[in-house]
Amino acid sequence: MLHVTFHGVRGSTPCHGHDTHHYGGNTSCVSLCADGETPIIFDLGTGLRYFGKQCNGTPSFRAVCLLTHLHYDHTLGLPFFEPLLHSDTTFEIYAPRQPDGRSIQELFMEKIRPPMFPVPLDQFAARISFHEVGDQDFSIGNLQVRSRFVPHLGPTLGFRVTHHDVSVTYLSDHQQPLGEYGITDAARELCENTDLLIHDAQFTNEEFATKASWGHSTYDYAQWVAETCGAKRLALFHHDPSRTDASLTALATAMSRTSRVPSFAAREGETVDVVTCSA
Ligand SMILES: [Zn+2]
Ligand SMILES: [Zn+2]
Repeated sequence: MLHVTFHGVRGSTPCHGHDTHHYGGNTSCVSLCADGETPIIFDLGTGLRYFGKQCNGTPSFRAVCLLTHLHYDHTLGLPFFEPLLHSDTTFEIYAPRQPDGRSIQELFMEKIRPPMFPVPLDQFAARISFHEVGDQDFSIGNLQVRSRFVPHLGPTLGFRVTHHDVSVTYLSDHQQPLGEYGITDAARELCENTDLLIHDAQFTNEEFATKASWGHSTYDYAQWVAETCGAKRLALFHHDPSRTDASLTALATAMSRTSRVPSFAAREGETVDVVTCSA
């Protein structure tokens, strides 16, 4: 069984207010835990801070991040991750190889240092290491990881993690085709028959009409991907920061009535236990 916890479910920028309280306002961060395995963290958005509070104090804390891309909404939480203040913490970050050859470590060091941030990244006590990945399959303990480049703005990965035949796919930022629906072979390899698909659902069809080139998907496209690829369950994710609790509930409820794949809107603080349907 895989335990998936949503720590941040928003896209683009954090938001706050009485009308976003139910789903939460932090940006992309999801943890995945399997018994006896190193915890996996999808993305380093502002939700990471809350995951850090849960882990703080764990002796010799170790975690692995699978980072989709370097946009701020996916990286802003890193310097606020409390386990990084401890010298016995080991934190490994797998991130997309950059086409210009610049290293991920160098890019983070440029962001996390004065005057943009008071403490340079290399002065944090924890051991932080970086791995650059592309279209490949690799293991973290007994977890199998598949990383594939997917359409978005700039080099962006999607991930699929499998443990004893149970799989979770994370496609937080995914550019919907501008015309007829379709899916790249790479994205299909991530989504096919997955037990839980966490997918970009930033826009309504009306919003997409004016924001088609912003790198994201509609609710309808997320549903189409889940159905086309035979996903067992769909978590709508990367909610637009302007989406209120009421409108998000209404959109998710409408979808659950029409979708062949059970779906729900991801909510901050919620844990989902994922088991394989074929077991
Ligand atoms: Zn994003
Ligand atoms: Zn992005």
